[in-house]
Amino acid sequence: MGTKGREIVGMDVKRVLELLNKAFADEWLAYYQYWLGSKVVAGPMKDAVIAELLQHSADELRHAGLVTTRIIQLGGAPVIAPQEWIKYSNCGYDAPNDPFVKKILEQNIKGEQCAITVYNSLIQEVGTKDPVTYNMAVQILQDEVEHEEDLQALSEDLQAILKK
Ligand code: FE
Ligand code: FE
Ligand code: MG
Repeated sequence: MGTKGREIVGMDVKRVLELLNKAFADEWLAYYQYWLGSKVVAGPMKDAVIAELLQHSADELRHAGLVTTRIIQLGGAPVIAPQEWIKYSNCGYDAPNDPFVKKILEQNIKGEQCAITVYNSLIQEVGTKDPVTYNMAVQILQDEVEHEEDLQALSEDLQAILKK
């Protein structure tokens, strides 16, 4: 299965799979954090925030799909059990205990900043040694950069309202 495609990977495939599985765990946790955040969030600008959180949760789920596809192409297996996600993840999980919009936005901005760091370092490490993984990670990084910006823009608007 995909023997030539795997053969061209110019670095330890086990290491690529390790990086991918850690990212996979991050994406599921990010998906869940956004999804749950969109259900519990309360406060000013709630509707705009809910729309953004839901859009981002869908993106994170799509990212989990992209990462899984690559893991399987490389002959690996995605982390099978949800209880392993925290262990594998780089960015962890920030439970939305406080539903206030400001707090939810802060938590998710922190998560995006972690995701940006993770994909950027994955891209640096993999480089052209595995162009397919590289390309996937660049696509995801573009989304994470957009996510951070969207949330920071909402956060700025919210600050303006809270100051009134
Ligand atoms: Fe993501
Ligand atoms: Fe994101
Ligand atoms: Mg967005």
